[in-house]
Amino acid sequence: MFNALVVEKDEETGKTRPGVRQIGLDDLPEGEVTVAVEYSTVNYKDGLCIGPGGGLVRKYPHVPGIDFAGTVEASSDGRYKPGDKVVLTGWRVGEAHWGGYAQKARVRADWLVPLPEGLDTRAAMAVGTAGLTAMLSVMALEDHGLEAAHGPVLVTGAAGGVGSVATAILAQLGHEVAAVTGRPETQDYLRALGASRIVAREELTEATRKPLESELWAGCVDAVAGVMLGRVLKQMKYGASVAAVGLAGGAAIEGALITPFILRGVNLLGIDSVMQPYANRVRAWGRIARDLPMEKLDSMITPATLSDLPGLGGDILKGRIRGRVVVDVNA
Ligand code: NDP
Repeated sequence: MFNALVVEKDEETGKTRPGVRQIGLDDLPEGEVTVAVEYSTVNYKDGLCIGPGGGLVRKYPHVPGIDFAGTVEASSDGRYKPGDKVVLTGWRVGEAHWGGYAQKARVRADWLVPLPEGLDTRAAMAVGTAGLTAMLSVMALEDHGLEAAHGPVLVTGAAGGVGSVATAILAQLGHEVAAVTGRPETQDYLRALGASRIVAREELTEATRKPLESELWAGCVDAVAGVMLGRVLKQMKYGASVAAVGLAGGAAIEGALITPFILRGVNLLGIDSVMQPYANRVRAWGRIARDLPMEKLDSMITPATLSDLPGLGGDILKGRIRGRVVVDVNA
């Protein structure tokens, strides 16, 4: 038997209740590879799944945890053998399939990638789904022509998980990074990650009817959407791209939206880490190991245990987490 954070649902009241319980290998879902999980993390979707699910959880009882890193314990797939270090992100693990908030997980071999050289399991989860998405965003901006000489790159929701890793990667690659935050107390943290400018959230959360604003940004990684994305699109330089990853600030984009696309040739690139094919995941993890300064990762980490998770799920939904929460499932 081993520990897991299990979310149960009372069918009569519809209320969900997360708690640490003992489960066994026979309880785990089907899959070719059983992994002894070492670390998982807390992402925005985990916050939803620890609570009432927000439409993501298909069946209760449920074990959330959309990402994990650990050691292969058993495998019926030739690509993995016991002792191999692996990382998992995406594929609706932690939503439709039991996830990483347990000391063991069983998944399809196709969903895993080998731990890249240069990362241990804790560092891999300090990056996690949020960091992988940040890297995929930077790669998409590069594919659309972004170079450091083009000017400042904006990162929204900068003190959050995606934003923190995006800030550190972009700065490391030589970009001038302007970090948008609603938490002035995170300024020193963001500057230490490499932000050269802090933009107060209020500067971008008032809708304007102007069809365009001054051209300011050569690129943007946006984790917030809502009114902020509407404003940012109007401030992009000619031909620049926005990598849109999330909607921490709301699902609707507001404003006279068509003008940035027609008059400035702005690109809006949707980035999703969930169904990334194997080759893309391996390429992105390889870039993370190469381009993310590992000494900066430490400043992003809030350590946690399985029993901390019910409280942390609420915190991430309220935008209260700084950087990345790394869950030691064996602590
Ligand atoms: P976090 O909660 O760690 O960070 C989100 C940040 O957004 C907050 O820290 C805060 O930053 C800012 N924020 C929160 N609420 C608001 C608001 N109302 N208005 C403006 N800014 C706000 O989450 P993650 O970084 O992990 O994820 C961010 C988004 O990206 C989520 O929507 C998530 O679901 C999505 N996501 C998408 C992925 C994909 O594959 N596409 C993968 C991972 C995440 P600050 O305090 O600095 O202002």
